[in-house]
Amino acid sequence: MLHLHHLIDDAKCYEKVRCLRWPYAVRCPHGESNKIAKRGRNHRHQECRRYRCKKCGRRFDDPTGTIFAGHHQPLRVWITGLYLMGLNVSDQQIAHELDLNESDVQEMTGLLRRGVVERRPVVRLEGEVECDEVYVIAGHKGRSDGIRGRKARRNRLEGARRRGTLATEKPPIFGMIQRGGEVRIAMRENVQQQTLAPLMLTTITAGSTVHTDEYNIHERLTQWGYEHKTVCHSRGEYARDEDGDGFHEVHVNTMEGFWSLLRSWLRPHRGISQEKLPLYSGFFEFVHNAKRRGKALLGSLIGLLVAAQNSSSKPDMSLVEYGRDRIQYLEQAVLRSAYSRSADAAPRGQGVGG
Ligand SMILES: [Zn+2]
Repeated sequence: MLHLHHLIDDAKCYEKVRCLRWPYAVRCPHGESNKIAKRGRNHRHQECRRYRCKKCGRRFDDPTGTIFAGHHQPLRVWITGLYLMGLNVSDQQIAHELDLNESDVQEMTGLLRRGVVERRPVVRLEGEVECDEVYVIAGHKGRSDGIRGRKARRNRLEGARRRGTLATEKPPIFGMIQRGGEVRIAMRENVQQQTLAPLMLTTITAGSTVHTDEYNIHERLTQWGYEHKTVCHSRGEYARDEDGDGFHEVHVNTMEGFWSLLRSWLRPHRGISQEKLPLYSGFFEFVHNAKRRGKALLGSLIGLLVAAQNSSSKPDMSLVEYGRDRIQYLEQAVLRSAYSRSADAAPRGQGVGG
């Protein structure tokens, strides 16, 4: 019987981790000191090097403090698993290819997926940016699609023609994509202005042109510092040539194209719960933005997972820093608009639910 991961060299895996983690010199994970003494090898994983920090005296080895530390399975299994995840192979198939049991694989891929999502770089968009949302059918943990009598896995990712919320088991994924650039997607409870505002303000640079479809939720975009162009899908309009130069630039086709990639990406993973959907979609956001596939992607994934975590690379913190002033400004603006709308715009609200 041939075992795939036996063909992969543990020594090379550790070497790769070392050079991605410490491109210049080994550093102590506890205090960043580079006064390090070598301390032989790990007795269980022979290819894993051990060290002692001369400054703080603490011992560590190649994967200490990273997601690859402290596992029963050898590093090569984790690296091979990560490679297969980059190829979008399902947990079930990874278990089969690596001769592991499925629950072990679920634990492994769950940890790796979360690791990638938590460490992925902050996405900032500018220039021409398209925004759109889709609704994904995703139930809660432990409740299979079958119980609800639903046709499983067909139209799991629906077009954005009806509003969903977390409560209806059709959570919206809101997406922003820069034409020719990166994408940022996030699951949200709903697509109300106050929900989307912090996300947009921390992602899209002020002064950018934001293209959306006709929904009212985007009507405040100019107040938020963007130039806003809108295309009306319900009138059968998908792109409009506004300045008459023959290019139809007002559209959200880039975002629509991305949704179809996301739809294909999610397809092999059956019955993704709402709890896990942000992890799968966040993982794909990273893959898409890395613009690499297969073995080239693997280097980016390992690099991301072992890179030193300093405060500037933590997405959530820097997001908060970046957008705080604008969020405060915006919260006031949203509150003002909510009051004025409840006073004078009741009839308009009825047309939206649909
Ligand atoms: Zn130290």
